[in-house]
Amino acid sequence: TTGRRPLIAGNWKMNLNHLEAISVTQKIAFSLSEEQLTDVEVVVLPPFTDLRSVQTLIGGDRLLLGYGAQDLSPHDSGAYTGDVSGPMLAKLGCQYVVIGHSERRQHHAETDDVVNAKVKVARKHGIAPILCVGEGLLVRKENGHVEHCTLQLRAALAGVKAETILGSDPKGDRAPVDLVIAYEPVWAIGTGEVATAADAQEVCAVLRATIEELYDVDVAKGIRILYGGSVKSSNVAGIMAEADVDGALVGGASLDPEEFARICRFR
Ligand code: PEP
Repeated sequence: TTGRRPLIAGNWKMNLNHLEAISVTQKIAFSLSEEQLTDVEVVVLPPFTDLRSVQTLIGGDRLLLGYGAQDLSPHDSGAYTGDVSGPMLAKLGCQYVVIGHSERRQHHAETDDVVNAKVKVARKHGIAPILCVGEGLLVRKENGHVEHCTLQLRAALAGVKAETILGSDPKGDRAPVDLVIAYEPVWAIGTGEVATAADAQEVCAVLRATIEELYDVDVAKGIRILYGGSVKSSNVAGIMAEADVDGALVGGASLDPEEFARICRFR
């Protein structure tokens, strides 16, 4: 993780009502020292309905915790019942938004084109995508994982310029944050099946090389690439020790604030 600040992000998925969200967020904040939170960036990704509560707790204190959403609409406004837009998330102070999570690709038939449109719209509103790529079990068994993930990455970033990867805040009221990539092998999500540290490193290194090809060496060196898939306090250190793994996207284990705080103290 040479020179890159580690990022541990908790994807709550469709869990925790707004009262539980308040309790979990407070517990995480109180479990980590100022030094630990300076060292490692800690982010929570609650359901839309919890964002206001989390925003109220965290306020502008970004050194404490960051927060973001799990999805956004590719449109800014209009007749899209049930969807939530980039401007709405920006107004709630979201720094991050998960884009292309395998559960969205699977349950909402999100194509690479939709993922690409969402990346662009998030950037337009100064929100940093946590862009997820990852292969299913069949692809892994056929040894197609590297190609699968690089193709997903290239498609998601089609037409996205280097300056769009890097953070900017059009309104100047939020700290700029760079786009983040997350390698999440689908067979390791919520299954208890963890990719080995070497598996995570293999794909994260190839994704970084792809970024260098698409942009340049500075963007490749600066961009953070996370691993996600059954990360727990018992396996996080080994994964974080890999050169191209800069953090973790944590699902199930992020719902338990004590366990999540242990993951954030991986060093
Ligand atoms: C996820 O869905 O982003 C994830 C990594 O889930 P889990 O940690 O539960 O495998």
